Amino acid sequence: MSEMLDYLVIGGGSGGVASARRAAQYGARVALVESDRLGGTCVNVGCVPKKVMWNGAGIAEALHHAADYGFSVGPTAFDWNRLVGARDAYVARLNVIYEEMLEGSKVTLLRGHGQFSAPDTVTVAGAAYRARHVLIAAGGRPALPQLPGAELGIDSDGFFALREQPQRVVVVGAGYIAVELAGVLRALGSEVALMIRGNTVLRQFDTLVQEAVTGHLEAAGLALHRGFTPAALERRDDGLSLLSEDGRSEGGFDCVIWAIGRAPCSDGLNLPQAGVQVAADGHIPVNIWQDTNVPGIHAVGDITGRAALTPVAIAAGRRLADRLFDGQTERRLDYDNIPSVVFSHPPVASVGLTEAQARAAHGDAVRVYTTRFADMYYALGSHRPQTVAKLVCLGEDERVIGVHVVGRGADEMMQGFAVAVKMGARKGDLDDTVAIHPTASEELVLMR
Ligand code: FAD
Ligand code: NDP
Repeated sequence: MSEMLDYLVIGGGSGGVASARRAAQYGARVALVESDRLGGTCVNVGCVPKKVMWNGAGIAEALHHAADYGFSVGPTAFDWNRLVGARDAYVARLNVIYEEMLEGSKVTLLRGHGQFSAPDTVTVAGAAYRARHVLIAAGGRPALPQLPGAELGIDSDGFFALREQPQRVVVVGAGYIAVELAGVLRALGSEVALMIRGNTVLRQFDTLVQEAVTGHLEAAGLALHRGFTPAALERRDDGLSLLSEDGRSEGGFDCVIWAIGRAPCSDGLNLPQAGVQVAADGHIPVNIWQDTNVPGIHAVGDITGRAALTPVAIAAGRRLADRLFDGQTERRLDYDNIPSVVFSHPPVASVGLTEAQARAAHGDAVRVYTTRFADMYYALGSHRPQTVAKLVCLGEDERVIGVHVVGRGADEMMQGFAVAVKMGARKGDLDDTVAIHPTASEELVLMR
């Protein structure tokens, strides 16, 4: 048994690294356990490689618009393997940077799988480490459906491992990952079918977003199969075939990607040994302070089942360290008004309540402003996709409680509006703000 640590962090992803480094900055003796590549989901099989692919897809799209701006672009070729190679080299550099950051912060890195052997003890590679506080930041992994032939498909991790571009692809799912991966593959030239159980994608978003993104996917040439609940996957002579519960069969695919949600990595932690409660779906419940039911054991990030986003894991982890090791007794993450972006084509950006959530909570006190316009970028061409935006406002003074945008630039637009919403901005504050012209963002302060 080694000497007593102040903080032992299980998981070297977004939340774990951020929390460990912050704690060490306060002088705590910190060790972090990681069984795989440093940086976790975001760096290795999430945000980072995804955004690289999305940027690549954006270049493919720009080539389509080049002629509108007077460019004669000759035959172009796209080399999937070259993009993937450059992407992976970038990720490998980040892995090294993460290790150096831990070293620089004086966090001891323990390589191996961590699991509890007592409430204050975690075993890694046969050695036991005791700590006053243990943070569980073990994240999640892709969920696979329980149906015949599911193993013939791949998940988002498998997507990032593809060394050749699949030509005829099925993506199953309707959330962030399905929409993002289907959009990237389509923009880079694959034939893509998207199987969704409902009528629209992104059903947790405002209806304006759902309808706009579903429309953009179809306009981009994706084959959208609505009401398609998968029942089985089979390999046939012409490739993979996906069967639905209502007897439909779609075939001839060289790749099937499951993107139906993620499962928490709580099963390998030996949690019963520590007495930590686990919900039926495997998530670890925490209170507003990120504390589990066991004193001294905390959890942040995807494993807690709340707002599975990198900045959320980081913010929760840092605030926890501020509270535990710097005496900031009231410091915690407020989970209201968390902005997020779906990197679709064009992107979605959203903060606060959807119109439906607002009406369910506040009834007639809700007032909504909506706008639709073609971004000037498309003015010179014949295809002019619409940008749509909605403000959800509450009460006499019209406090802005939701902002939803689908359109070119929405991804870079939302951070500032999220600050305004967090500060309690009123519609009148937006009206009083002078527009920046000519931009798409200005439409959000010009709505009537
Ligand atoms: P993780 O980052 O998953 O880290 C957990 C770490 O714990 C892993 O490194 C794992 O190996 C390690 N681990 C697990 N169990 C053990 C153990 N017993 N012992 C030792 N180590 C262990 N979020 C965004 O905000 N923006 C995006 O654009 C975005 N894009 C995404 C795209 C995809 C395809 C995916 C899958 C996710 C995306 N996310 C995005 C979500 C984001 O990646 C996660 O919310 C974030 O990584 C969660 O951080 P975490 O610290 O909770 O867990
Ligand atoms: P999501 O929860 O976003 O979406 C999964 C969707 O798949 C469900 O909403 C559901 O949609 C559908 N689904 C669920 N089960 C089945 C099934 N058995 N068969 C067919 N469809 C099914 O999960 P993702 O995996 O897309 O992403 C996980 C999380 O990671 C996200 O919620 C997000 O927090 C994070 N993430 C963030 C990104 C970003 O910030 N840009 C990018 C990627 C991930 P329906 O009910 O309509 O069928």
